[in-house]
Amino acid sequence: SEVATMMDVPVTNIISACMSLGMMVTMNQRLDAETLVIVAEEFNHKVEFVGAEVEESIEEVIDKPEDLITRAPIITVMGHVDHGKTSLLDYIRKANVIEGESGGITQHIGAYSVNVGDQKIAFLDTPGHEAFTAMRARGAQVTDLVIIVAAADDDVMPQTKEAISHAQAAGVPIIFAINKIDKPNANPDNVKTQLSQMNLLIEEWGGNIQSQDISAKVGTGIPELLEKVLLEAEILELKANPNKNAVGAVVEAQLDKGRGYLTTILVQAGTLKIGDYLLAGKHSGKVKAMFDDKGNNLQTAGPSTPVSILGLDGAPQAGDKFNVFDDEREAKQIASKRSQLQREQSVRTQKTLTLAEIGRRIALGDFKELNIILKGDVDGSVEALTDSFQKLSTEEIQVNILHKGVGAITESDVLLATASDAIIVGFNVRPQGNARVIADKEEVDIRTYSIIYDAINDLKDAMEGMLSPEM
Ligand code: GDP
Repeated sequence: SEVATMMDVPVTNIISACMSLGMMVTMNQRLDAETLVIVAEEFNHKVEFVGAEVEESIEEVIDKPEDLITRAPIITVMGHVDHGKTSLLDYIRKANVIEGESGGITQHIGAYSVNVGDQKIAFLDTPGHEAFTAMRARGAQVTDLVIIVAAADDDVMPQTKEAISHAQAAGVPIIFAINKIDKPNANPDNVKTQLSQMNLLIEEWGGNIQSQDISAKVGTGIPELLEKVLLEAEILELKANPNKNAVGAVVEAQLDKGRGYLTTILVQAGTLKIGDYLLAGKHSGKVKAMFDDKGNNLQTAGPSTPVSILGLDGAPQAGDKFNVFDDEREAKQIASKRSQLQREQSVRTQKTLTLAEIGRRIALGDFKELNIILKGDVDGSVEALTDSFQKLSTEEIQVNILHKGVGAITESDVLLATASDAIIVGFNVRPQGNARVIADKEEVDIRTYSIIYDAINDLKDAMEGMLSPEM
């Protein structure tokens, strides 16, 4: 009704305009930005967003090339359960403490950094693709490289495949760590063969993906693995400007009795200093103290440094971005605006992508890629659907199968869909456990079918902009 007043048209006209876009709205409903633009166009009005200054007021410094210095790579470790992710992370950290400066007891703060020669590598200490993709879903692209651990005494497992899909969907290079080679029944070649069958050819076999045989138990191959990480990082030419206000992302946060909120963050660029005014997600505060993972007090933290800080007025979520402000009031204001926006957003409809929404956008010509996560009951139907879906690609719209697999639709599938703007197609499978709940919350479209023909037809209709909204 507000929009109707602004454009001086009857509110019923707005409602029917929305209906023609497949949206059932009421008078008091808030419309998202994109819908507003389209609706206004119908009535020959142009939309200018003046209320959207919240994020824009966060000034982004454009770095000059001469301001940039090389920064350490940030690594996430992924892989199938029990293949040795935690063991690898623990081994690397412990090895570093023995050589390390303080020799103190390490504390789990969610991330740590190690020295390799005169270089550094930062590790996110929450292994697994769920954590990785959950951060991406919140907008944080923190990881530069992914190490995928695959046990040499096992096959390439479903979660190994998931990890590969999640890394690929994020466009992050992979290094394989073939683990447990100390075991008598270890057969690294079996893993490598299976990877090659998935078109993942490692360097040793003439491909371009790095791989290292390791034992996270006894330490074999780990120095070589770290060397390969540094080599890969060099190719990526990771750089950041240390001489500006810090920006980065939240890794984890907890309430520490007596000390307040302890928040682990990763500085991605700039330098964070004691006394800085920080805004992270919906929370703000002055940095009162900073620690590394060995409990050492820090005064400053530069690019690619994980640190725990005290001083925020609440616990932001993993993957929230943070910024530093010169003025405490400004940080506070934005924090409270964000809280307010979030409350409003939760009453909005149609935030994320549904198949109907895809159809609408395709019809408008502003949609180029259709990302799909495909789960099925048997390999045959998954492959058949993959083929048919991919064949639907046209010159205008590319159909991407981000991940496919046999089995129920999992939480991790939903997360990947959120982070990558994908829809989920299930063939003879349903969402499992919490997956449905999260999908509802994140408004991820899950379509389940038991007839291949129906699945293909729906997708085709959506791509032709003809799909009627699901009731
Ligand atoms: P995660 O679930 O991937 O984090 O796996 P963990 O690191 O917890 O390891 C699962 C099990 O495998 C544990 O019992 C480890 O002790 C064992 N393990 C991990 N790495 C190795 C290794 O290199 N050699 C051997 N023999 N056992 C390992």
